[in-house]
Amino acid sequence: MRIGHGYDVHRFCEGRPLILGGVTIPYEKGLLGHSDADVLAHAIMDALLGAAGLGDIGSFFPDTDDQWKDADSIKLLAIVASYVRKEGFEIENIDATIIAQEPKLRPYIDLMKDRIAKAALIEISQIGVKATTEEGLGFTGAKEGIAAHAVCLITKK
Ligand code: MG
Repeated sequence: MRIGHGYDVHRFCEGRPLILGGVTIPYEKGLLGHSDADVLAHAIMDALLGAAGLGDIGSFFPDTDDQWKDADSIKLLAIVASYVRKEGFEIENIDATIIAQEPKLRPYIDLMKDRIAKAALIEISQIGVKATTEEGLGFTGAKEGIAAHAVCLITKK
């Protein structure tokens, strides 16, 4: 059994959609990034890659590569999950926390879990997604961006 951790941050910007866990969420701003800037999917990918000893998403999908410009990160998550399986691992569970002052994310959590489950080819019951604020503190509290943490457990088949 192996554990993995991932952490990511993207800053808010004008004129882009806000995409978290593969779900487009109505909000006045989106997140800046080379891909679709899905900070939750990115944290989960890094957790999975870390657990499998495969490095990080920067080495698989470099932000200098035009191939990944505006990439759908849920599709990248599906690729990462397939790499983890190719190494002979099964994903036991994924647990993640999104840190955002705004918008309220509770209405979208179940849909995010569904998208993540379909990408990683696991059950919704194997996925936790929570959202919290940081009580107005720090860069998330100042609404400068969104952060996400993720952990996962994988086991050798
Ligand atoms: Mg990222």
